[in-house]
Amino acid sequence: MDLYEYQARDLFESHGVPVLRGITATTAAEARQAAEDLGTPVVVVKAQVKTGGRGKAGGVKVAKSAEEAEARANDILGMDIKGHTVRTVMIAEGADIAEEYYFSLLLDRANRSYLAMCSKEGGVEIETLAEERPEALARVEVDPLVGIDQAKADEIVAAAGFDAEDQPKIAAVLIKLWDVYAGEDATLVEVNPLIKTGAGDIVALDGKVTLDDNAEFRHPDHVALHDDQSTDPLEVKAKSLGLQYVKLDGNVGIIGNGAGLVMSTLDVVAYAGEEFPGSPKPANFLDIGGGASAEVMSNGLSIIFSDPAVQSVFVNVFGGITACDAVANGIIQAFELLGAQGATHKPVVVRLDGNNAELGRKMLDEAALPNLERVDTMDDAARRVAELASRAN
Ligand code: GDP
Ligand code: MN
Repeated sequence: MDLYEYQARDLFESHGVPVLRGITATTAAEARQAAEDLGTPVVVVKAQVKTGGRGKAGGVKVAKSAEEAEARANDILGMDIKGHTVRTVMIAEGADIAEEYYFSLLLDRANRSYLAMCSKEGGVEIETLAEERPEALARVEVDPLVGIDQAKADEIVAAAGFDAEDQPKIAAVLIKLWDVYAGEDATLVEVNPLIKTGAGDIVALDGKVTLDDNAEFRHPDHVALHDDQSTDPLEVKAKSLGLQYVKLDGNVGIIGNGAGLVMSTLDVVAYAGEEFPGSPKPANFLDIGGGASAEVMSNGLSIIFSDPAVQSVFVNVFGGITACDAVANGIIQAFELLGAQGATHKPVVVRLDGNNAELGRKMLDEAALPNLERVDTMDDAARRVAELASRAN
């Protein structure tokens, strides 16, 4: 789960990372009140959207009075930034920026480790810096079992080439940011910019945090950070049904059992789709897990059917502990349930393989479900479902 800047700010504060005060507002009048409450000569009105580059897009504006804060909030609220509508702004204390730095700590999957990145040149888009002047971005591996202790923090600030007099203060902040990363089970903590103020203090001015959803059971307080408004409504519904569903932007609905099989199904469908006009692509990831009961199957199908982008659906199941006959039974009952609810049927292609495949296939054939085709192999099924989606356009 990605957090909003104001949520990252709050987590930083609770772990002792120096931040400036900030108050959220959803109306211009609230923004004015927030600026008055802060009482600083300068405030910054910042769009709260889960995407970068707000500054460039006009979503970060300095205001020198409460009236001006109100006017800027009025400009920014409702704005569209890269497809995200601004519903909330944060009114933050204005900072006296002497220098802007960059710091991030993230999960480095390829190296099964953590990676810290740090630069004296922050504020800018880090992707551009990494591409054009990679030597200006220090990369230091962080041992997950040790984290950023004093020695590691010293190593990072030295690698980034900070002036000797700045190094101890910056290192102290990096240790606190490690505390956020480990303590909150984050997979990303990014500060851009990390600033030095005119008075020489180090402050995290903008924070981006991604929390590991798999660790949520250890953090009951993280539930309060959920934001259904910015999440796809189908994802919200799927989550409430306990389904592992991710919305994608294609038009072929996908259901499978097991994350690995579903991932490869996405690849095979995208590949097969290239042969057909309009290049159909997967519309979602949906892993119904091991059980594949009728209820789970009908929940999954109804989520996918209710996605207006979906033109055809691929049910790809490899029978294991839950054998294919049980899955076939689930599909048949799911069609009955959905039929009783009057749900519309989009064409469905089913591939069953594995344990009791013969029996499962026979059951499906005998049930002769409307708008359902059975195809024996994964590749042929992917081609057929892509063809059906292509034709519907
Ligand atoms: P982003 O564009 O989404 O990364 O938003 P940031 O919060 O990083 O703000 C973008 C830029 O606005 C920063 O790099 C700063 O240069 C500037 N900025 C943000 N807050 C302040 C502030 O309090 N005072 C001043 N003078 N500039 C600020
Ligand atoms: Mn930023």
